[in-house]
Amino acid sequence: VRRVFQPVRDLSGKFTTMQAAMTALERIFGLLDSKPQITDAQVNHAFTLPARPRLVMQEVGFAYGEQPILKNLSLTVEPGEQVAVVGPTGAGKSTLIKLLNRTYEPQQGIIQLGGQDLQNIPMATLRRTVGVVPQETFLFSGTIAENIHLRDPSIPQAAVEEAAHKTGAMAFIADLPEGLNTRLTERGGNLSSGQRQLLGITRAFVFNPALLILDEATSSVDTISERLIQNALQELMVGRTAIVIAHRLNTIIGADRVIVMHGGEIIQGGSHQTLVTQPGLYRKLCELQFGLDGSLPTLQQG
Ligand code: ADP
Repeated sequence: VRRVFQPVRDLSGKFTTMQAAMTALERIFGLLDSKPQITDAQVNHAFTLPARPRLVMQEVGFAYGEQPILKNLSLTVEPGEQVAVVGPTGAGKSTLIKLLNRTYEPQQGIIQLGGQDLQNIPMATLRRTVGVVPQETFLFSGTIAENIHLRDPSIPQAAVEEAAHKTGAMAFIADLPEGLNTRLTERGGNLSSGQRQLLGITRAFVFNPALLILDEATSSVDTISERLIQNALQELMVGRTAIVIAHRLNTIIGADRVIVMHGGEIIQGGSHQTLVTQPGLYRKLCELQFGLDGSLPTLQQG
């Protein structure tokens, strides 16, 4: 399997379509040799986590096959801290997310949330504890309310409404013929991409995750939606421990700390203001992506 995949893996850093091809191939071949078995923790009804847990990753190593993808990665995110992760394609940012929501297990090192090993947190709890807002929100054919609470009977209608108000999604939902009970077509085809994103943010909100992971969209929606989405994300992030795979300068500047990933390692960390004045990958990324002049000592916030 390895020999077949090696050339694909080498190319996939350059072409995102290759990522999709990889996923398809993985599905076909099952890649049983590389995906570790995920076993659920014993159900522990007394299990609780602090509302704002500390995330600790210690010397984490991970490989899909033979090639190491994350190497000796250590990162502590303090309760309530918001960390922006930046780095070129293929740096391992998405893989990091997949370890945090236990799509995969680390092969080396430990990951703890609120002092608990992720492996000891029951999957059902973990799903509510680690909230991921992906680049593209997955919607199914069902009502808007169902798409927000995911048919979880423990989420009351009032919580859905409150979340939709907080994220601003209610503004467009209220204009629909049946409000929250409006049925969506397959994949939410009858909504704009900005509206779909607002629903994804509302969904994260309703589950009140202790650790929030945002994979910021790279493709921009129109300016009005963009502002609504930014406001919704701000609202969602208040007081939460958060990790943001960031593509927008405002997000990066607004974070408490920026970490720079490259080749599966954290190679730089600090505030935007500090990093941008130092020679290194971060400054290069800022120059390339945002056209920033690295010599500027500070930037206007907001
Ligand atoms: P980023 O999100 O920073 O672009 P990724 O975590 O997606 O980086 O990818 C890191 C590396 O892991 C890349 O070299 C990529 O090709 C490889 N990779 C990602 N997903 C898989 C997979 N499912 N199987 C094998 N290799 C993968």
